[in-house]
Amino acid sequence: MRILIVEDEPTLARQLRQTLESAGYAVDSAHDGEEGQYLGETEAYDAVILDLGLPEVDGLTVLDRWRKAGHKMPVLVLTARDSWSDKVAGLDAGADDYLAKPFQSEELIARLRALIRRASGNASSELVAGGVRLDTRSGRVTLDGEPVKMTAQEYKLLSYLMHHKGKVVSRTELIEHIYDQDFDRDSNTIEVFITRIRKKLGADLITTIRGLGYSLQG
Ligand code: CA
Repeated sequence: MRILIVEDEPTLARQLRQTLESAGYAVDSAHDGEEGQYLGETEAYDAVILDLGLPEVDGLTVLDRWRKAGHKMPVLVLTARDSWSDKVAGLDAGADDYLAKPFQSEELIARLRALIRRASGNASSELVAGGVRLDTRSGRVTLDGEPVKMTAQEYKLLSYLMHHKGKVVSRTELIEHIYDQDFDRDSNTIEVFITRIRKKLGADLITTIRGLGYSLQG
C-alpha cells in the first residue's frame, strides 16, 4: 500500500514518513500544495495524508481540485487543533477523515488502515484467503494458524493482493502500489516476490493470469 504525505513542517513530515514506513507502507512526501497536487494527480496512492495549511496552494484547494478532476483516493486531512471550521471545510471538500494536530501516530495509522480497508471493500482488519490470514494491525501473517515470516517487500505485495482478493491485478499496478517514487522499480522483482510468497504460503494462493497479471484466490 502506498501513501502520499503532503505536509510542510519538516520534522512532522519526517516523523510521519518513518512511522508509516515502519508500519509497512511505501511512502512519498510533498512539502507544498503544488507538488502535492501534482503527485496526487500523476501517481497511484492508496491513501493521502493532507495538511491544510500549506505553502503555494492550500490543502483545501488541492483536495477540491483532485475531487473535481475525479481522483477518488481516500484523503485524511490534518487540521489545526480544535478548528471545527477546518474539519467541516475539509469534509465538504471531499476528505474521508480528519485528525487534529497534535495527534498520536497510533491513531493516525489506525485511521489510515480503516480508510484503505473501506476503499477496497474490506470490513475487517484481518484479511483471510483460504488458510492464510493477514492481520493489518500487527502486520502478522499466518498459514493454518502458524506464523509465517515475511520480508517487508513480500508483506507489501501480499497485503495489496489480499486487499484486492479475487480481482486481477496487473504487474504495473503492483509496482505502483508497493514501491515509493524513488525506488528503482524493476518488474522482474515482482515475479521473484510472487515465487517466494507461493513457497511460503502455498502454490495455489496466487494465480498467474497470462498477459494480465495476478489474482489472489480465497
Ligand atoms: Ca502546515
